[in-house]
Amino acid sequence: MTTSPSDIDHQLGNDAQILWRIIQLCLHYRGRVLIAVGATVIAALFQLAVPPLLGSAVDGALGLLDTVSSAKSDARTTLFQTAALLLGVSILRGLFTLIHNYTGEAVGHMMANGLRLAFYNKLQGLSFSFHDRVHTGELITRGMLDLEGVRMFVSTGLMRLVLLTILIGAGSYLLLSADLILGAMSLSFVPFVAWKSAMARLKLRSLWLALQERMGVIGRIMDENLTGIRVVRAFGAENYELAKYGEAADTAMALADQRIKTRVASTTIMTFAYFIAMGLVLWVGGLRVLEGRLTVGDLTEFLTFMTILQSPVRQLGLLVNSFARASTTGRRLFAVLDLEPTIADRPGAKPLQIKDSLVSYENVSFSYDGDDGLPTLHGVSFKVQRGRSLGIVGPPGAGKSTIAHLLTRFYDVSDGRITLDGQDVRDVTLESLRRQVLAVPQDPFLFTTSLENNIAYGDPWAEDGSIVNAASLAQIDTFIGSLPEGYSTLVGERGVSLSGGQKQRIAIARTAMLEPAVLILDDSTAAIDAGTEQQIRELLKAPMKSCATIFISHRLRTLLHADEIIFLKGGRIIERGTHDSLIAQGGHYAELHFLQNQLDNELDNNPSSIKGAAQ
Ligand code: ATP
Repeated sequence: MTTSPSDIDHQLGNDAQILWRIIQLCLHYRGRVLIAVGATVIAALFQLAVPPLLGSAVDGALGLLDTVSSAKSDARTTLFQTAALLLGVSILRGLFTLIHNYTGEAVGHMMANGLRLAFYNKLQGLSFSFHDRVHTGELITRGMLDLEGVRMFVSTGLMRLVLLTILIGAGSYLLLSADLILGAMSLSFVPFVAWKSAMARLKLRSLWLALQERMGVIGRIMDENLTGIRVVRAFGAENYELAKYGEAADTAMALADQRIKTRVASTTIMTFAYFIAMGLVLWVGGLRVLEGRLTVGDLTEFLTFMTILQSPVRQLGLLVNSFARASTTGRRLFAVLDLEPTIADRPGAKPLQIKDSLVSYENVSFSYDGDDGLPTLHGVSFKVQRGRSLGIVGPPGAGKSTIAHLLTRFYDVSDGRITLDGQDVRDVTLESLRRQVLAVPQDPFLFTTSLENNIAYGDPWAEDGSIVNAASLAQIDTFIGSLPEGYSTLVGERGVSLSGGQKQRIAIARTAMLEPAVLILDDSTAAIDAGTEQQIRELLKAPMKSCATIFISHRLRTLLHADEIIFLKGGRIIERGTHDSLIAQGGHYAELHFLQNQLDNELDNNPSSIKGAAQ
């Protein structure tokens, strides 16, 4: 079962509180933030110095038309000085822009890096009940895309806010104080463009979110298709899969089209509004020049201010978008970061002390859905200790693997208790418990690294000799030796593809590297042939003397030598005893034994009839 995002999200405060939390994270890099803000202010001031300089340069250039030679020469000098000043201001503005861009981006990246590590760390600690509920894709989206939204807030949100406030604020003041009417005309496009830009950005954002959601669906369809490619081909379902993919792709295309239309329309309208305002200023300003109330340089100054302001005003939309995005993505990211694992070390938890490796289940009941859910296990009790073994058998879904999950504290019991050498597993540190209780699952996971690294996963400093020993115990050393690159062979997409049985044997070798107090073999030889399983069992006899062993299997021959066998049905132990006593009881176990024996005999006596039936 997976959860909808709202199941993870909880009350985290309003948008302003989320943004303040991001700002506080930035303030860990106070020095750089100060440099970035300082450089932004200076760069903005230099940019505002350009229009007056251009204005006086134009007036200076007009002075060259003067017929009096001394005036002409003065004008030339003024022109050169202004041009030099303009060049200097432009260089300094460029320099400070560079500093503010670099430091602003750097702060964003440093903060994102810290968040990335914290997020990954959190995922390692969150309980299995959380991972059961939340889709992996959802977590990857939060840790990648949402984190990116928070990172971008620093450069596109905070730094831009400083820049735009100074440019628009100081620019408007300068224009209005120079000439109230002409200044108001020059600024007339500002409110409309700012509003239009913000609206367009918000619309683009909601379309972007919808598009992302669609892209997520497309990714999921592709992922499932590739993972289950054999099933798709076997059932000839290529056309069905193509239709499913095509439908998702068409919706994504429609959303992308809407985005393009929104962007083009808003850009055109904003440009139109800007040119209308510019036309007005040219008209009224031109009349004032003719009337001698304004110089050509003054008019140039107004027009240059308008050009400088145009881009920041349009960027107000980006600013609004950045704030909206950061509050949404920050909320989603912090929702995970603030979660507390339900399975964690209790205060004062001590490392597990092993004496006899005595595992004791005392009236254990458990439900995956908490107190309100249907119980998966009811009043399960058993004991097993060092050198002894317990076999668990039962129909699918009976709760066999659940028993194993509780011992490693992947989940906590709902009722009763589990102890190891008298210590409640909830009272010892998780690290010491999981170091001493090792389970080999039926469907083991191998990492995309060498076979050697996979085997030595629990003990990365293991010597080559122990890796080879573990591999031979798991009956996989001959196979590894036959590979051209031996133990260095890569596993996975870029390396060797392993069969289910080979993977299981690597997993057994991985566990054999360590010396656990309790070993759980959860159907871990189900994909291994009977002969190899028998050899592994023989070889495991020695290490099993130093630990308590729990076998979980559907195949009775895997566990018939166990010191005690329990038959589980519907989460309850309905039969228990040794193999012989259970056969004598003539119950479920005996019936299963009879059926499996019958099948084995048929196979031994007439293998072709079974094969024929299968075909
Ligand atoms: P099998 O022989 O098929 O491996 P099992 O006896 O090991 O089955 P469990 O895997 O322990 O059975 O599952 C017992 C019950 O608990 C099943 O009904 C299963 O659907 C449910 N269950 C297992 N894992 C979870 C989980 N993570 N969340 C919710 N329910 C679960």
